[in-house]
Amino acid sequence: MDLINLSAHELNGFIKSKEVSVLDIAQDYAQRIESVDEKINAFITFDKNVFFSKAKEIDAYIRSGNEIFDFTGIPVAIKDNICTKGVRTTCASRILSSYISVYDATVIKKLNAQHFLMVGKANMDEFAMGSSNENSSFGAVRNPWNLDYVPGGSSGGPAASVAASEVPCSLGSDTGGSIRQPASLCGVVGMKPTYGRVSRYGLIAFASSLDQIGPFTRDIKDCAALLEAISGYDEFDSTSINTNVPRYKSFLNSDIKGMKVGIPKELMVKEIDLQVKESVENVLKMLEKSGAIVEEISLPSLEYALSVYYIIAPSEASSNLSRYDGVRYGYRNMDARTLREMYKKTRAEGFGPEVKRRIMIGTYCLSAGYYDAYYDKAQKVRTLIINDFKNAFSTYDVLISPTSPTTAFKIGDKVDDPLRMYLSDICTIPVNLAGIPAISLPAGISKTGLPIGVQVIGDLLREDNVLKIASAIESDVKWKIKPQI
Ligand code: GLN
Repeated sequence: MDLINLSAHELNGFIKSKEVSVLDIAQDYAQRIESVDEKINAFITFDKNVFFSKAKEIDAYIRSGNEIFDFTGIPVAIKDNICTKGVRTTCASRILSSYISVYDATVIKKLNAQHFLMVGKANMDEFAMGSSNENSSFGAVRNPWNLDYVPGGSSGGPAASVAASEVPCSLGSDTGGSIRQPASLCGVVGMKPTYGRVSRYGLIAFASSLDQIGPFTRDIKDCAALLEAISGYDEFDSTSINTNVPRYKSFLNSDIKGMKVGIPKELMVKEIDLQVKESVENVLKMLEKSGAIVEEISLPSLEYALSVYYIIAPSEASSNLSRYDGVRYGYRNMDARTLREMYKKTRAEGFGPEVKRRIMIGTYCLSAGYYDAYYDKAQKVRTLIINDFKNAFSTYDVLISPTSPTTAFKIGDKVDDPLRMYLSDICTIPVNLAGIPAISLPAGISKTGLPIGVQVIGDLLREDNVLKIASAIESDVKWKIKPQI
C-alpha cells in the first residue's frame, strides 16, 4: 500500500480496520524522509529511534482495545517554534539552538490526548520572521516542486514536508501569512484560525497579538479534523476564546447556493501575476456556477495593512525577544568580562540579520517621542481595518483573494531586498490584523509547474463558512498533481 500518499483520514481508516499498524506507517514515512529530506531540508530535528518507539507504544495502546481517534497513530510534523517537552525547540535560531522546553504546548497536549505520532521539528524562518525560509540558521528549505525555488515562509518546513509526502499533515504558525503563503507556494492546504480559537500556550512568541497556530494538510477534510483537534479554550492563554468547538468536519460538501462572496479590490493588487489572477477568476466562475453570489467590494483601509503590520509586529517582537539575554535561555557568549558585554555579544552572535532588523525597527517605533507617531497611530489604523472587515461581513459570508501575489520565487531572488520580500504577504497580513480566520488551498498550477493558491477569508469564529467554500473549491479543482521528487 502506498501509505505516504494517503491523507490522514485515509490512514485512520486503515488503522481502524487493522490493515496497517502504526509501525508500518512510521517505517514508510521514515524511509521517505531519509530519501528526500537531504534535498528539501524540511526538518531541524528528526530522530528515527524515538519515532519508531513512539509508533510501537501507540500500536500497544491500540492492541489493548483503546479508542482510536482521528489522529491516533497519524504522523504530524511540528514547526520548531512550538514547545515539545524533551525535544529541542530552536525557532531556527542560534540563540535557542540547544533549548529544550520543560513543558508541552497546549496543541501538543491535545494531540497527545489522541495518541498522535510526532515526526519531528520542522524548519522555519528564524523566530518566524520571513516569507521564504531563507532566514533559518539551519539552512534554507527547498520547494519540492522545484528545488531551486523557495517553499515560502515562515513555515517553510511544515509546508514542504506535507508537499513532499514526508508527512500527511503538520502544524505551523501564522503571524502575517506564515501558514497560508507557504501552503500556496507548496500546493497544500493551510489554515489560520480566528485569533484565540487555538491556544498559544507554548508557542514561542513573535508578535503576540497576531500569532496563531494552525494546520497544514493535503485536503480540506484533514484540515477540518486537525483544526477541531487543536481548537478550544485554554486557561493558560488569556487571549483564548471560551466557546464550544464546532464539529468542523460536518461543514464539508455543503450546498453553497446563495452564499455571498466578496472580492476586495484592494487585494487584487497590481503586483499580482497574470496566471495567479486567472486561477482565482476561474475559482470565482465555478462558485457562481454552484449558486454563490460573487461581487467586487472595497475595503479602503487595506491599503495601509502592510505598513501597519511592519510597525506592530516588530514592536511586539522587540519586546518579546528581550528575554533572550544569555542569562535565562539558550546560547551565551562566554568570553565577555562584564554583564553588559555578555548581553551585547550574546545577542549579536545569537540573532540573525532579519531578527536584528525587526528588533531595531520595533525598538525605534516604541521609543519615547516616536511611540505616538508610529505605534499608537498604527493601532488606530488597525481599528479602521477591523471595521472595514466588520462592515464587509455584515453583507458577505466570505471574502476571496489570491493567497500570494506570485508563485514561488527563486532562492536568493529577494533575500537582499527586504521590502520586496515583505510584499509577498500583502494579501495575508490584513487577516491577522483583524484576527479573522482564512485558508489557502490549491487553485491551479502555473505554466512553469509551480502551484497557485486561493485564499478564503471568514468573519470572526466563522471557520464553518470558510470550510464550506473551500470544500466546494476543492471538489472542483480536483487537485491530483504531485511534485516529482
Ligand atoms: N512574512 C511575514 C513576516 O516576515 C509573516 C511571518 C509570519 O506570519 N510569521 O513577518
